[in-house]
Amino acid sequence: MSHVFPRHCHASLPTVSHGAGAYLYDQSGKAYLDGSGGAAVSCLGHADPAVTGAIKGQLESVAFAHTGFFTSEPAEELADRLIELAPQGLNRVYLVSGGSEAMEAALKLARQYFLEIGQPERSRIIARRQSYHGNTLGALATGGNAWRRAPFAPLLMEVSHVSAAYAYRGQAPGESEAAYCDRLIAELEAEIARLGPENVMAFVAEPVVGATLGAVPAVEGYFRRIREICDRHGILLILDEVMCGMGRTGTLFACEAEGVAPDICAVAKGLGGGYQPIGAMLCAARIYDAIAAGSGFFQHGHTYMGHPVAAAAGVAVLDRLVGDDLVGRVTPMGDLLRQMLVERFGQHPHVGDIRGRGLFLGLELVADRESKTPFDPARKVNATVKKAAFEAGLICYPMGGCVDGKLGDHVLLAPPFILTEDQAEELVDKLETGIEAALA
Ligand code: PMP
Repeated sequence: MSHVFPRHCHASLPTVSHGAGAYLYDQSGKAYLDGSGGAAVSCLGHADPAVTGAIKGQLESVAFAHTGFFTSEPAEELADRLIELAPQGLNRVYLVSGGSEAMEAALKLARQYFLEIGQPERSRIIARRQSYHGNTLGALATGGNAWRRAPFAPLLMEVSHVSAAYAYRGQAPGESEAAYCDRLIAELEAEIARLGPENVMAFVAEPVVGATLGAVPAVEGYFRRIREICDRHGILLILDEVMCGMGRTGTLFACEAEGVAPDICAVAKGLGGGYQPIGAMLCAARIYDAIAAGSGFFQHGHTYMGHPVAAAAGVAVLDRLVGDDLVGRVTPMGDLLRQMLVERFGQHPHVGDIRGRGLFLGLELVADRESKTPFDPARKVNATVKKAAFEAGLICYPMGGCVDGKLGDHVLLAPPFILTEDQAEELVDKLETGIEAALA
């Protein structure tokens, strides 16, 4: 019997043996095409020799040195590289071990910033109902996903949630995209007015919504208007690029496609590509400077922050993403995969929507295409697709929560950027097998 506390207590999981390129293998030798990079993590695929080599090299010089005593070459290099590549205005980097940690740091930094500049009344966060920002209590409170929050509701701080830009369900029949965008913006403005703009600390959003909706980009112009509202009211814009960042949508930072830069940005997953647990919070100089000139100490920290081996992995991953231009493959391969998905599922009676950007794509599964009626959750469609696809040799990431954060089924695809055309075809074939088996 395994003594590892698994994600699902009664799951009987195969033991992974090794990875190579776009595939993982279990101990029986069965190959699984990693169609979702786990959970949008493995952007380079598996066993990339440049990254494993960099990790080994760093381990042989120094594995750990506490950030209370030392900085390290890989941490400095990673921070320099990220700032060089980040949207203008982001120029300080706080290295942590994952996405939730990056988001916790973002929230606490925002709060401390307002204390340092003499605006202690600013503590309210506005986020979006259809969102996921991590599983630690602050990040969980910020996320809007109802079922994840429900058991822990008494432990969660109060956060306002407005609608996400989710055109498939949010845009009314006959409503133009611009009118829909106006409505979303009006909803946010009303919430800011209700709270009192002087009390609002931050607006938090994923540029392309991942786990909760399955790769949903905002409507045209939405984020530019959000940026303008935040500026007008002195509210910090925190973008969570933990899932959609690091090239996943075709640009290194997903917000580049929106033409906006946040005040604080969280990245993780693709930053380490799965080779090491690492995340980062990037922030504007004025935020850092306020703290440096004030108390001089960001009142936060984790033992493993700035870990040299994780940072070395991050540098090596960036070398592959940017130096070898794997990010350059994302848009063409994403377009190709999307076209294959449209050809295969575009008329499927139970595929309501095919969406996403770059190699971050989603399918929404519905009981009825015309009315967009979701499946009865008792059918557990997304879990069944995941199981059937896995049996067929495909890792994909189906989740529920498309409808009001509760019901609804989608399948998230986030394959490695090294995906070939043949592998894209294999992905679509195996996904079809999974979907047909689940709906049979
Ligand atoms: N934010 C987003 C947008 C995420 O998708 C995730 C992970 N799915 C997190 C935060 C939390 O990251 P982690 O699981 O590394 O703590």
